[in-house]
Amino acid sequence: MLSFLFPFFLSYFLPPFLVRKLIAAEQAKITQLEQKKVAAMVPTTAATNSATVAALELQRKELEKQAKSGTSVSNLTAAYQSKKAEYERSLYGVDLCFILDCSGSMTSWIEVTKEKIVEITEGVKRIPAKNQPYLRVAFVGYRDHDNGNQRIEFYDFFDVNEPGAISRFQSYLSGVRPIGNSDTPEDLAGGMNHALTGIKWSASTKLVVHFGDSPCHGKKYHPYGDNHPKGCSCPDGDAPEKIIEKLVAKGVDYYFGEINSTTSKMCGIFANHMTSCNRGDKFKVLAMSDNVDKFLPEVIKSVSRSMQMSGQFT
Ligand SMILES: [Zn+2]
Repeated sequence: MLSFLFPFFLSYFLPPFLVRKLIAAEQAKITQLEQKKVAAMVPTTAATNSATVAALELQRKELEKQAKSGTSVSNLTAAYQSKKAEYERSLYGVDLCFILDCSGSMTSWIEVTKEKIVEITEGVKRIPAKNQPYLRVAFVGYRDHDNGNQRIEFYDFFDVNEPGAISRFQSYLSGVRPIGNSDTPEDLAGGMNHALTGIKWSASTKLVVHFGDSPCHGKKYHPYGDNHPKGCSCPDGDAPEKIIEKLVAKGVDYYFGEINSTTSKMCGIFANHMTSCNRGDKFKVLAMSDNVDKFLPEVIKSVSRSMQMSGQFT
């Protein structure tokens, strides 16, 4: 402040041109500081945004080329608008995939997923964000190897705002039946692998919320009887913690809703593995203690946390 006033003070003694010069120099300093301040406030998404703008610009050029070749301009405008909307949906999008153990004891968890989907949609809208998030939801249910073609069931990502989409998803979930099998562990690896390879992730914020009351196959994860003591022979053969690592490499945050202590040892192995890859923040255990009332708040908290971590939202 003092240095800013200094030129005015001097103006009693100095010729006017010199005073103007000094004031100009002070103002330049202030402008520089202002610019630094603005630069510090630019969010980490600047790179993503500029990549998207560049992609849109390419798209516009392509459409211009097509326009010159005689295609109707209104068609092109519509195509451009829909492309732009698609980019925005992915830029401000949230892909939420539920992975659920669908074996015998999971009835109430399948039911709560179906019941709370509307409230999840409303809850996500209320998360403070710079841009209204576009929420898409997917579902992967798994059982075990002796359940044949009912081992994996899934519903790929859908836009919750599309008319009728939520009720279609709810009637699908009404048909997902809990079915028991012969040992305590379940084919978690199969379910996780399906979330990795069998559904179409596209948004900037991606998360899996996984609920299960039994561990994966493999004696190192639990002390129970296991038909696949060395781990199960799922198509890819990867250990579950490796599948989490691959999902995280795709930009997915992994939340495991722990229903009881049978999965504690397994969760410890998953967490240690992710810490050893320096991605410890990407795997989080939610303590559900078999209380379905925790479902909605824990899901909303997880979405909110992932939105913050992806840097898309304030
Ligand atoms: Zn398996």
